Amino acid sequence: SLYEIINKVKDLDPESHRKWFDELKLITFDGGVMQIGCPESSMVQYLINNSSASFNKAAQSLTGHLVTVEFMTLEPGFMPQASGFDDHDASCRLNPDLTFDNFVVGPCNRLAHASCVAVANNPGETYNPLFLYGKVGLGKTHLLHGICYEMIKSHPASKVSILTCEEFVNNFIKSIKDGTVTKFQSQFRNVDTLVIDDVQFLREREGSQEEFFHTFNALYESKKQIVLSGDSAPGEMKQLEERLVSRFKWGLVARIDPPTYETRIAIVQKKAQLRGLVISEDVAEFIARRVKANIRELEGALTMIYALARTEQCEIDLDLATMALSVESDQGTRQLSISDVIKIVAEYYNVKLTDLQSKSRSQSISLPRQVSMYLARKHTRSSLEEIGGHLGGRDHTTVMHACNKIKMCKENDEELNLQIQKLSEMIAS
Ligand code: ADP
Ligand code: MG
Repeated sequence: SLYEIINKVKDLDPESHRKWFDELKLITFDGGVMQIGCPESSMVQYLINNSSASFNKAAQSLTGHLVTVEFMTLEPGFMPQASGFDDHDASCRLNPDLTFDNFVVGPCNRLAHASCVAVANNPGETYNPLFLYGKVGLGKTHLLHGICYEMIKSHPASKVSILTCEEFVNNFIKSIKDGTVTKFQSQFRNVDTLVIDDVQFLREREGSQEEFFHTFNALYESKKQIVLSGDSAPGEMKQLEERLVSRFKWGLVARIDPPTYETRIAIVQKKAQLRGLVISEDVAEFIARRVKANIRELEGALTMIYALARTEQCEIDLDLATMALSVESDQGTRQLSISDVIKIVAEYYNVKLTDLQSKSRSQSISLPRQVSMYLARKHTRSSLEEIGGHLGGRDHTTVMHACNKIKMCKENDEELNLQIQKLSEMIAS
C-alpha cells in the first residue's frame, strides 16, 4: 500500500520526508508505473526534485518489481498552463514548505510578514514595489514564496513569476546570445506579479541593470506588482545605479532581523511539526539556545537530531539532542575518550576499573558501570559497540539498555540525577 511505501521512504530519506505525505493518494498502479496524486502542484514539484529516487526504491523493494513512480496533481485545474515562460511560472516552482502558514511571525519579521500578506491580498494596490531585505537565512525567500502561493490560490488566473535575480540575468544574457531579447522582454513585461529574489546579484552588472530598469518601469506603469529581496537596504547597495536604487525605495522597504530566542523556539517547533516530529519544549529550547544567527541552521540541527533518533531507534529527548549536537560542537575541541569517562566515574564511585569490566552484578558495581555507559554515550562520539568493548566486552544491546535505564531512573531518583549532573560537569571541564 501507499502507506507502506511512504514509511519506507521515510526510512530511506528521513530528511526530505514531510507530514503532508499522508495526503498523497494512489491513483493507479499498472504496467510497472505507479501514479501518485498530490493535492497541490507545488507538492508534485517537491517530490520530483527531492523524493523520486527514494519513492522508486521503496516501491521496488516492497513490490519486488521494477516500478517507476510518477507524481501528479489531484486537481487538474491547478496545473500550470503551458506558455512561453513556464520556467518562471510560480505555480510550478514553489516549495510547498514555504507558505505563510509555515512562517513564524515575531518581532524580527512582523513588518515584513504583514506587508507580504497585504501585497498577496491586493497585488499592485498596496506597496509597490515591496522590497524585503535581511541577512542570509532569515526568511526572505520563504516570504516571497508565501506571496506567490497565496496569489495563485486566490487569483488562479493571474500570472505570477518568481525567479532569482541570477536567473533573470542569465536569461537576459542568453536571450542576447540567441537573438531573442524581444521575446525575453515581453515575457517579463506581461506578468501580473514579478517576484525577484536576491537583487544584490545585479551589482556591477550594468547591462542587466539597464534591462531590469526597463522591466521595472514597464510593470510599474501598468500597476503590476513587483516584489524584490536583497541582502541589504537599497541605499546600501553601492554598486547599483542610483535610478534603480531610488525605484526600489518607491514602495515599502521592510527589514528582517535575526529572530529572538522565543521566535527561534517557535520556528523549531514549526519545522518539527512540518516533518511530523514531536519534540518537547526543552529540546526546542535547547536547539534555540544553540543556534542563533541563521534559521537554516536551526533546521540543520533538527535534521541531525532526527537522524540520530532514527539510527538509535529512540525518542527525541534532551539527552539525544545534546548528543546529536555535541558532535558538531566537539569539532576543534578536545576529543574525550571512553577511557576518560570511565576513569572519572570509577573514581567518583570509588570502584576499580577492573570491577567495572568484570561480570559482577552487585549494585555497587553495576550502577557505576551503567552510569559509565550512559555518560560515555552522552559525552563521546563512540558507538554502543565501542563502549561495550571498554566495559568487559558487553554487546551493544546491553549498553543501550543501560543507557535507557539510567535515563529513566534519573527522572525519578533525585540523588542519581544529582550524581549524574556532577559527573557531567566533571567530564565536561
Ligand atoms: P533567506 O532567503 O533570507 O536567505 P530563507 O527564506 O531561505 O532565507 O530561509 C531559510 C530557512 O529558514 C528556510 O527553510 C525557511 O523556511 C526558514 N525560515 C526563515 N524564517 C522563518 C520563519 N519566520 N518561520 C519559519 N521558517 C523560517
Ligand atoms: Mg533566499
